[in-house]
Amino acid sequence: LEIYAVEKDIPKCRIAMDALKHSMQWDEEHYGRPYDLDNYMIVATSQFNMGAMENKGLNIFNTSCVLADEEYTTDAAIMRVQSVIAHEYFHNWTGNRITCRDWFQLCLKEGLTVFRDQSFSEDLQSAAVQRIDDVAVLKAHQFPEDSGPLSHPPRPDHFVEINNFYTATVYEKGAEINRMMSTLLGKEKFRKGTDEYFSRHDGQAVTVEDWVAALTAGSGIDLSAFLTWYNQPGTPKLEAKGQYDAAAQTYRLSLKQSLKAHPKYPNLKAVPIPVALALFNAESGEQLTLNSSALVENAVQDGVYLFDAESVDIEFSGVVAKPVVSLLRNFSAPVDLEFNYSDEELAFLMQHETSGFNQWQAAQTLLERILLDGHGAEIYVQAMKNTLPELIQKDPLLASRLFDVPSEGYLGSRIDAGYSPAAIQEKRNALLETLARELGAFCKETFLALDPDLQKEFSQAMGVRALKNIMLGMMARQGDAQAFELAYAQYQATGNMSERLGALRVLVWNDAPQAQAALADFYKRFNDEALALDQWFMVQAAHPKASAETVQYLTSHPDYDLTTPNRIRAVSGGLNANPVNTWSFGVQHFIGLAKYLDEKNPIVGSRLLQALSRWYTLAEPQRSQVKAELEALKPQVKSKNVSETLNSMLNV
Ligand code: ASP
Ligand code: ZN
Repeated sequence: LEIYAVEKDIPKCRIAMDALKHSMQWDEEHYGRPYDLDNYMIVATSQFNMGAMENKGLNIFNTSCVLADEEYTTDAAIMRVQSVIAHEYFHNWTGNRITCRDWFQLCLKEGLTVFRDQSFSEDLQSAAVQRIDDVAVLKAHQFPEDSGPLSHPPRPDHFVEINNFYTATVYEKGAEINRMMSTLLGKEKFRKGTDEYFSRHDGQAVTVEDWVAALTAGSGIDLSAFLTWYNQPGTPKLEAKGQYDAAAQTYRLSLKQSLKAHPKYPNLKAVPIPVALALFNAESGEQLTLNSSALVENAVQDGVYLFDAESVDIEFSGVVAKPVVSLLRNFSAPVDLEFNYSDEELAFLMQHETSGFNQWQAAQTLLERILLDGHGAEIYVQAMKNTLPELIQKDPLLASRLFDVPSEGYLGSRIDAGYSPAAIQEKRNALLETLARELGAFCKETFLALDPDLQKEFSQAMGVRALKNIMLGMMARQGDAQAFELAYAQYQATGNMSERLGALRVLVWNDAPQAQAALADFYKRFNDEALALDQWFMVQAAHPKASAETVQYLTSHPDYDLTTPNRIRAVSGGLNANPVNTWSFGVQHFIGLAKYLDEKNPIVGSRLLQALSRWYTLAEPQRSQVKAELEALKPQVKSKNVSETLNSMLNV
């Protein structure tokens, strides 16, 4: 096993090398897939459009997906290195030994390989948190993509430039389809299905149909209905209603699915949706044993109900007390769930759900409700106070995720017309103020008590670091005079990038008196370390109050480089973290880049332009202004990549 990098980076390849060995072992154990050549090589390059590429026996990698060392690399980036190493390695079977018959089948190899690398990562850290992070990405990127002008089926039926289809839908929704089938089959049968796939098709170039047929034959369970998921766009809406009958001791759950009409796909069909669910006793908090009545044909097995009609009623009998239902546990299907939970029920699930993912999901639903409907804040705060003390000891990483407040970008993507980025920002800031006020004292106590160096496991230490950074942010927001000193002290004392960058963010984003000194120090320390320097650019671009001048300063900096995609993404990605900025001076920035990259690097140009794809949802006059700018760009671009994206974006 060999990894090639520039000499000074060789010591930063240890984590990747260990991950490679681990991936090889994991694929043998979980899928029975050994490696087939005598050597396996990875080369790390600092200028690369994608994360990595699975070229047989000699993977080409972006340095950002190989180099990892806690002094230079954040915990999140270390996790990403391990998952991309695994991803490319897993492609050796799902991608190389068995490849795609044609480009339309891209999600055959990508969706399956992402599902495999997600499962691998679930074994590396808190599995609940891995699922949380994967679902968060799906909701933040794939859901908006699927509800806008760039929406397409996981297996597209037409394209101008296939490079435009390395999308969240092909990758992440593709992975979800595989996860649904695996959930339904269970471990053993899924393995029988994949064994069948590998033995039938080794050495061949195949289709999504071949994959589903092999899974069906191997497992003995007909999965052909899942093909519909591959062939149509859009996020299905799953509406659920529950009714408890105390006299009869029954609980009736009504499910209904629907898809928004799509001009290019007139015949949308119902899809099979595995709904993982549980009932809890509202008083004791205990999980009830499920007892579904004869009404149900697709019986609930292991708490998973296969919902494959347009609507259905399920009745549970022997329910002695009013239950709280938990739906779509572990996000068992990539659907948009609508259920009339009360705020109290969500708070209940935050505290009593037995799976960490579902606790997080309940918190997210409650937070979204506070943000969009304006009620529930007190209940959320109380649930946090009840849950955190114990959880912080048990699973600090999960505890840190319960603080996730849906991002402005995600909240904006839930709005289809009359979207005002400033209004969303205001609401979100108001919530953050409330949380800082209510939880400030608790946060300070926690910050002072926690020490990542006392943790033995990486995952636990990562959790403690994440929590401490959140606490610092809360204290700063609350106006605690000591917050900046504590942040600056953390910045200086640590040799760990997550701690250093976490503190730097708090200082910079709150315009602390120490911010400039810390930025100057960071530059001095890391100006020869490209990936760390990307973070320096990113932190400044992501300042909530960044301006056209900030972007001007960063993009004319001597270290800014339009031939290095990572550097471009650092600034553009940072800027795009604040939709208020994206939709003001950001519009010029993204259009200017698309124009320039149209010739120099159309793959990246096309990608970056997508930051503006939801322009049509904006309230006037912004909507017309952005539209005019996009129209003006049209005659100036020539590449297939940028033109295809721009045409789709304008075709709403
Ligand atoms: N196939 C690569 C991957 O997803 C991406 C690329 O084509 O560069 O691993
Ligand atoms: Zn891939």
